[in-house]
Amino acid sequence: MPEELMKNIYRIRVNLPDSPLKTLNSYVIKGERRNLIVDTGFRTRECRGSLESGLKDLGIDMENTDIVLTHLHSDHTGLAPDIAVPGTRIFISREEIPWMYGETRTMLWRMDNIKVRRSGFPSEIIEKYLDDAAPRSMASDIEFEDYLPIDDGDEFTYGEYTLKAVRTPGHTPAHMCFWMEEQKTMFTGDHVLFDISPNITLWHFVEDSLGDYLNSLKMIDRYDVRLALPGHRETGNFHERTAQLIEHHERRLEECLNAVIGYPDSSAYDIAGKMTWKIRCGSWDDFPISQKWFAVGECLSHLRHLEMTGKIKADESREVIRFRALR
Ligand SMILES: [Zn+2]
Repeated sequence: MPEELMKNIYRIRVNLPDSPLKTLNSYVIKGERRNLIVDTGFRTRECRGSLESGLKDLGIDMENTDIVLTHLHSDHTGLAPDIAVPGTRIFISREEIPWMYGETRTMLWRMDNIKVRRSGFPSEIIEKYLDDAAPRSMASDIEFEDYLPIDDGDEFTYGEYTLKAVRTPGHTPAHMCFWMEEQKTMFTGDHVLFDISPNITLWHFVEDSLGDYLNSLKMIDRYDVRLALPGHRETGNFHERTAQLIEHHERRLEECLNAVIGYPDSSAYDIAGKMTWKIRCGSWDDFPISQKWFAVGECLSHLRHLEMTGKIKADESREVIRFRALR
């Protein structure tokens, strides 16, 4: 049974099988005329069963229900087109729409494959993994095109609640949080998570996603958030958490810089192997491929930020990009 968090606002925990995230929080606001769902789940049978049974318990009729998506990741967006019926509107950040369907999505994924190659992944791993990378196979229907754009400051009113979109780039190119001023409540998507630190990777057409993320954390910390509703797991002390996340990345930047100093001319793949990761695994070589993918992405975003702040230099003259500290 979905939990009622405040009057007419519910949380459905959508099971994410085989994911270290465990569950996705899908929030439902019941209005007098229309309802709103914030985030959905992977496009799998298990996620769909879990979400739809929650929606059924709440008596949600999709004809009178809209969906807002905090960001493009498939654990948030995957099911949206599948559960929609004529009458359902699906909203997502304007800048993330190209990632959602058709040729632009295919092109961006193809560019990702090149990024993986240039970061120094051994080719046997690339061949085996990329084509059926789990988050891709569980992504939303590539044919569905009817997304409506969200811009910073847009307002959504359902029942007694008004949600204002707050653009918080970093975790994804144009992630959105949703702020309910009167209730001092923020839907934080994956911008602020409490039990895990959100993954920050490099994105095409984004110069410095870690820089964006840190700026978005400082910006959102100015809101008087009394209750944060995150995309995964449980809530916690919002302001304490934003400070912790900033500190966490500062420590990681230092660790990353030390690895570049200690192992000059290494690839991002090798540098990631020198950093510490919270995962129960003997050595870098034993990491599951999917975890290596996240780790290298995370490492790349830190390397880029170090590059943008003048601490290291990337040599892009060969296929695999190598890094060296500047002194
Ligand atoms: Zn995410």
